[in-house]
Amino acid sequence: MIKVTAIETGKARMKTAQRTGRDDRGAIGRKLDIFRDRDWVEPLPILCFLIEHPEGRFLVDTGDTWRNSVPGYLPGWNPFYKQVSIKVAPHEEIGPRLLAMGIDPAEVGTVILTHFHHDHTGGLDHFPHSRIIGPRANFAVSTGVKGMMMGCLPQRWPVWLAPELVEMDGSALGPFPASHPITSDGRIVLVPTPGHAIGHVSVIVRADDATYFLAGDATYSQANLLAEKTDGVTNDPATALATLKAIKRFAASEPTVLLPAHDPEGPARLAGRETLL
Ligand SMILES: [Zn+2]
Repeated sequence: MIKVTAIETGKARMKTAQRTGRDDRGAIGRKLDIFRDRDWVEPLPILCFLIEHPEGRFLVDTGDTWRNSVPGYLPGWNPFYKQVSIKVAPHEEIGPRLLAMGIDPAEVGTVILTHFHHDHTGGLDHFPHSRIIGPRANFAVSTGVKGMMMGCLPQRWPVWLAPELVEMDGSALGPFPASHPITSDGRIVLVPTPGHAIGHVSVIVRADDATYFLAGDATYSQANLLAEKTDGVTNDPATALATLKAIKRFAASEPTVLLPAHDPEGPARLAGRETLL
């Protein structure tokens, strides 16, 4: 029995130009568009997903932290942080959310990060006793000043953080050229979904009732995926578009429920087993 549960850990707001980039704009033009944009999207959920599997509990992404709103937490020299608004109350962090579900975070054996952006790593503090898995190719661009310029806060990571970095070294999986199995039965498996960030991965969960595609930020919404609209923060729009097409091809090959990290309609699709195609 494999079960996927969506857990909302606060809200994020972004500019409309971040949620959806203009097809005719390159990486730099898209960022200028975000700074110029005066329209904010509605508060979007910051979602984590708990997978219960015979081999244990797996958590995909850890959300952000209430400390994000403490003066000085975000680097003042990086103007991009003023283009995003994170609101997380202490009790909305992933640790308290799990406790409210009757689960001690220490009972989460494995945390999987789709990528190291701050709104996916902010809850890591709750998992000092867990195995932390992340994609090596994304970690490589997430540390130091480079990472700090690219939406990561490595200076805020727990001092004990030493993620188990994985490569996409397994066999091709449908339209994905490689994969990385997490469980011995292969029913939880990582696939490369680069574009939003270098080395970004998604998590495919083949449960008994459906296949779940935990997309992280490969797309911000099912609507954007279906319309093949890439986001405004990608440094590589062509790769981001290829990823969207691959996810669609995968979903055409088996009934798949799409679960991005910031899609307000994701939890309802999960509850209703509503497939993408
Ligand atoms: Zn991201």
